[in-house]
Amino acid sequence: MNRTRLQVLLCLAAAAFFLNACGREHPAADLVILHGKVWTVDKAHPQAEAVAVIGSRIVAVGSDAEIRSWAGPGTNTIDAQGKSVLPGFNDAHVHFTSGGSEVSGVKLRDAATPKVFASRIAEHARKLSKGEWMTGGTWDHELWGGTPLPSHDWVDAATPENPVFVTRYDGHMAMANALAMKLAGVTRATKDPPGGTVVRDAQGNPTGLMKDAAMGLITRAIPAETEEQLLRDARAGMNEARRNGVTTIQDISSAADVRVYQVLEKRGELTLRVYCIAPLPQWEAPARTGIRAGFGDEWIHLGALKGFADGSLGSTTALFDQPYSDAPGTSGLPNAMMLPEGNMLKMALGADKAGLQLAVHAIGDKANATMLDVYEQVEKQNGARPDRRWRIEHAQHLRPADFERFAKLGVIASVQPYHAIDDGRWAEKRIGHERCKTTYAFKTLLDHGVRLAFGSDWTVAPLSPLLGIYAAVTRATLDGKNPGGWFPEQKLTVAEAVEAFTMGSAYAEFRETEKGSLTVGKFADIVILDADLFAVAPEKIKDAVVSHTIVGGKVVYGAGRQ
Ligand SMILES: [Zn+2]
Repeated sequence: MNRTRLQVLLCLAAAAFFLNACGREHPAADLVILHGKVWTVDKAHPQAEAVAVIGSRIVAVGSDAEIRSWAGPGTNTIDAQGKSVLPGFNDAHVHFTSGGSEVSGVKLRDAATPKVFASRIAEHARKLSKGEWMTGGTWDHELWGGTPLPSHDWVDAATPENPVFVTRYDGHMAMANALAMKLAGVTRATKDPPGGTVVRDAQGNPTGLMKDAAMGLITRAIPAETEEQLLRDARAGMNEARRNGVTTIQDISSAADVRVYQVLEKRGELTLRVYCIAPLPQWEAPARTGIRAGFGDEWIHLGALKGFADGSLGSTTALFDQPYSDAPGTSGLPNAMMLPEGNMLKMALGADKAGLQLAVHAIGDKANATMLDVYEQVEKQNGARPDRRWRIEHAQHLRPADFERFAKLGVIASVQPYHAIDDGRWAEKRIGHERCKTTYAFKTLLDHGVRLAFGSDWTVAPLSPLLGIYAAVTRATLDGKNPGGWFPEQKLTVAEAVEAFTMGSAYAEFRETEKGSLTVGKFADIVILDADLFAVAPEKIKDAVVSHTIVGGKVVYGAGRQ
């Protein structure tokens, strides 16, 4: 038992003793939830009807009759109406402030043709002041049949005064307009950087499209957002999170993001808890100050590092052993962090020695295998140590032999189930049937004893755990072509999917003793739905709606909001 929990229980014992003298068994709760289908994700007591909360913590989980005795005149009572009551969702992989900025930015995600893409950019440019950059967008050229790729001349005429750098939804390709290239100094003389491609037309001129590391050629010219802008983004993000029952995010954070979360905490504005994941190449900064994985308070904590082993499937930059089926000239690219050879191992050794947690993006089978090699080497050179909780982010395409290695090394598969029903529309075209058998292979991972942490990868996918759970349970691709499930043997049960989005994610951020289940002494981070997830047909899970989001005992979304 940790100290905070012990303190809570001691306080409660003292209060109970005092109130006993007045003839009551225990103090009145601040909040009780009654008539719920409570799924606790606590193996000792998986189901209940009701929950009682005092302050920020859960004090009782039980039957309606038991919990009713906790209600007093000042207690806020929520009737869950026989619907699901779950631990708050913990999204293990988000890009939060960029998500927030996209809520109010140009929207290209559903631009179904190049024409719509260009006209949305033109329309949005009219809202910007002169010189203001247009970024984000999250376009998807697969909606256009995969070709053509966007090009600067589609939008130049409509954006003479605003530099544009709009990103593909997976963040591995982006398109610059002529002004952005001019400001960034990109010309036909610009060479491809290591780990990146400047896409060129038949005459050798850049089309504006930058792949992976080449995106840096443009982004370095974009001025950083001000703190005011970032605060606005974070608030927009929290609004989305509350609506979707997300009570913790594990965020790929810049230093400016971490500062903004601290401002929000100080002002009492945070309505979710944040695990900040810093860029791996900066590992020496936290190491030098003595920060270890999990350092921080109950709202914000630190100590994980995000690295990249490769690119993405959509951009054909995910690194595979064998060439792409639809682009046989390439088998993908290692990320710049892997270069020169041995660089990733060097950073991993240093970060691990300092007690920091590694969370490295790996999509292709070769990238995943290489990261497992790196982790093996770190264990060999730094020695065995329990509780490293290494993560691989995405763990998308795996060699059949690597499931065992994930389990043996205790590597957490930090995966985003929505990607399976999204990419599942076209993944077979790209890498063929055989490799798709071990793609988004959540069930095989669980069967091997690998821990799953679920996330959304917002803004790559919607910030909606319910959609993620739907995706993991049905594997029904978004195009409606696989109603019985795309590689249905990889479907999870509702219980498995809920656990991965709560307890699994909590474990991945070293907080499983504080959250992840509805257990006495843990944070009262709770979500109530308008449906019983365990009773509805799987295809209806996507229609379920969050009715209440409760963080630290406070109703931050829904009726009875404080
Ligand atoms: Zn991501």
